[in-house]
Amino acid sequence: MEELKERILKEGKFIKPDILKVDSFLNHMVDAKLLRNIAMEFKKAFSSENITKIVTIESSGISIAAFCAYEFGVPFVFAKKYNATNLDPDCFCAEVFSFTKQTTSNIRISKKYITKDDNVLIIDDFLANGKAILGLYDIIRQAGAKLAGCGIVIEKSFQPGRKILDDMGIKVVSLARISSIEGGKISFLD
Ligand code: 5GP
Repeated sequence: MEELKERILKEGKFIKPDILKVDSFLNHMVDAKLLRNIAMEFKKAFSSENITKIVTIESSGISIAAFCAYEFGVPFVFAKKYNATNLDPDCFCAEVFSFTKQTTSNIRISKKYITKDDNVLIIDDFLANGKAILGLYDIIRQAGAKLAGCGIVIEKSFQPGRKILDDMGIKVVSLARISSIEGGKISFLD
């Protein structure tokens, strides 16, 4: 997606050799028009699937999933990372190792909000090692739901996540695929 790649080149900053900061349009301040265009791209890519629910993980997936849910005309559910007294105790749970925080958290989705009749599209901002997607997929399987595929805004193709998901036969659509960041220069795969 050209518009997205241009924004990455213009505003993206590598804060560590493998962590890209895009908080001027995606992760902190959010460009709603760009997100609407992103959601429309995912809608085109998954138009042949009868998606019934969008699933993401808090917190940076939420704004993207909200636009996607509007575009697909279905609800979205975000997996919670933190336990709270108002969280339904009857949840599907999975462990996820966070690439950016280097900690493990237990993600949860209430059993009320994902069922065996769902055909799920997972949405996330980044794909690195694939742990967030695999945690969400674990929950989808526990619910007996079907996974239609994953929509990723920025894939760091030099990290192993994409290959892992490809090897599992999971359909992945990434709107920007970063092949390398040598010398601070960002290159895209296609
Ligand atoms: P994975 O689970 O695939 O290793 O990492 C994906 C998750 O980690 C995403 O949900 C995203 O929030 C975070 N993440 C991974 N790499 C980056 C990055 O380069 N920049 C930012 N801002 N977040 C990242």
